[in-house]
Amino acid sequence: MGKVVCIGHNYADHVRELGNVLPESPVYFMKPSTALVPLEAPIRLPQGRGVCHHELELAVLIGHELRAASLEQARDSIAGFGVALDLTLRELQTQLKAQGRPWEKAKAFDGACPMSPFERPPAFQDPQCVVLELRVNGAVRQRGNTSQMLLPLLPMLADMSTHFTLLPGDIVLTGTPAGVGLLQPGDRLGLTAAHLAFETSVT
Ligand code: ZN
Repeated sequence: MGKVVCIGHNYADHVRELGNVLPESPVYFMKPSTALVPLEAPIRLPQGRGVCHHELELAVLIGHELRAASLEQARDSIAGFGVALDLTLRELQTQLKAQGRPWEKAKAFDGACPMSPFERPPAFQDPQCVVLELRVNGAVRQRGNTSQMLLPLLPMLADMSTHFTLLPGDIVLTGTPAGVGLLQPGDRLGLTAAHLAFETSVT
């Protein structure tokens, strides 16, 4: 696996719930390959670093190199779809944001990206019309539809690739809908994206 390139602030209702303003241009950040862990392994929360939030996201596996790509090249580069958690140390992130500092300590730690297996595109439906849902201990916490993305998937991949070359094996996280919240030891999580469904827990 390569790097994980993420977009922030890509669902308006999530931007509002955190009191942020809608971005004039896309907000991108990255997680290193050491952040990736299998989704179905129990989640280990970092100790002593404050509140850790779940962000449920549709994830895209890149199959072909993309650099300043067209929309068509972006579409052809998609090798799979999956579901990921963009784990975020929210108090630390808020502090770093207030200080105008980068977010890596809050978003790029080891295990910060639990990731499902990928399903190849023909087996996966229109990625721009996918219901995403996260349940914690049986209660729905996050529910959204990828049709609500402020920057849709293909223009996102094309634009990202003007900033960072995307290589085969890289993963793109496409943003989270509203409902982010804290994870606690013992929580049981159910994640769905279209017909994909996974379960995990927090140790
Ligand atoms: Zn996110």
